[in-house]
Amino acid sequence: MENGSPGRRKASVRDVRRANRALLLRHLLLAGESSRSDASEATGLSPTSVTNMVTELVAEGVVVEGGQLDSSGGRPRTILSVNPDAAYVIGADVGEAEVVTEMFDLTMKRVASRSWGFPERRISPEEVTDVIAGSVAEILQEAQEARGPEVLTRVLGVGLGVPGVVERPENLAGCGDPLREPIVHAQVVGWDETDFSTLAERLGLPLLIDNGAKTTTQAEAWFGAARGVDHGIVVLVGDGVGAGIITNGRLFRGSSSSAGEWGHTKISLDGPRCRCGARGCIETFVGASAVVTAWRGPDPARAGHEMEDVRSMLAAYHAGDERAQAALDRMVEHLGVALSNLVNLYNPARIVLAGWFGDMVAQELLPDVRRSMIASSLPQPGREVALVRSRLGRDAVALGAATLPLDRFIERGWPTRSAEDGGRGARRGRGASGGDWSW
Ligand SMILES: [Zn+2]
Repeated sequence: MENGSPGRRKASVRDVRRANRALLLRHLLLAGESSRSDASEATGLSPTSVTNMVTELVAEGVVVEGGQLDSSGGRPRTILSVNPDAAYVIGADVGEAEVVTEMFDLTMKRVASRSWGFPERRISPEEVTDVIAGSVAEILQEAQEARGPEVLTRVLGVGLGVPGVVERPENLAGCGDPLREPIVHAQVVGWDETDFSTLAERLGLPLLIDNGAKTTTQAEAWFGAARGVDHGIVVLVGDGVGAGIITNGRLFRGSSSSAGEWGHTKISLDGPRCRCGARGCIETFVGASAVVTAWRGPDPARAGHEMEDVRSMLAAYHAGDERAQAALDRMVEHLGVALSNLVNLYNPARIVLAGWFGDMVAQELLPDVRRSMIASSLPQPGREVALVRSRLGRDAVALGAATLPLDRFIERGWPTRSAEDGGRGARRGRGASGGDWSW
């Protein structure tokens, strides 16, 4: 489709139409409910373009009309909303000890979910492939039984939020060309230049991959505590630590998409050795394992039980246990210093403290973290920045991963399957090979 345009002028008209449609669809998806006049006002598109595009989207089944909005004195306006069952997306949160795979409808309401724990840690890409392929098959079976067989023809694709750096996150996995394949570098879990082309083939669906902190950031920016923020940072504190940086309303990636590896910036010259091989990384002071170890000493037998151990540590903290208080005070102090570096470097208006451990700390100790952050920040940016708790909690990573195919749909429409498909590949159903999708 893309290469078949007869002339430059025509292609540019089509590009403008596609960009306008994306603008309108993004507004309708994020607003929940709108009207033609509200959509025109919010997007800056002319009322005529909005009306024309709404007619197209209604004919496609993506947008539905229903009910009236009362406007004081003026004409009543028809409510526009996205049809939840027009399409579905799947997101998988690949954590170090657990993989959570979830399916959402087009309004991003969760329709099915599976989780799989890896108490031993050190998950391999092969295991992740098996677990996700199995979970997606089960989820699709469940969705088909609940909603009918046509569900299978409406799944846009699968998004993965993974630890580490993802090179070429803009490409579909399983594209068949090693030079274009998205590659994951995650030293901390032992993945070196890993690709997920086998998973793409097994799924038979378009597969998009990005770093988990970036997918979380996208979820918080669309639906959570970073919504509407032009300059913000979402920090993800679990066992590992990362950040997603929003500048001018867009995710900042750097030259090869590794920007935001905040967990491996250094706050001590001779600090503890990190899993990345260096010393003094933020992760070694504020990551869950590091803090739990500071509380009760090293205990290899408890690996994989960090969440339970953090709960016990917080209970001990409240009961007045001095070691728990010392471990958490130290964590809060280091987290504040680490956040102040972000404040001084990026001048964010808002920082969202996310991730399972970050959320538990935010729930109990947010004012202390804020005090520590402001104490180490330059006065001017420090005074202005808001530090807030995540609104999506632990769900953000899988939801964020599912926004990868959703974002593609908004920007480019339906995925297509090889040249002879002629469009709307997703509606043709899943096939044997995942390698021939384009989007
Ligand atoms: Zn490190």
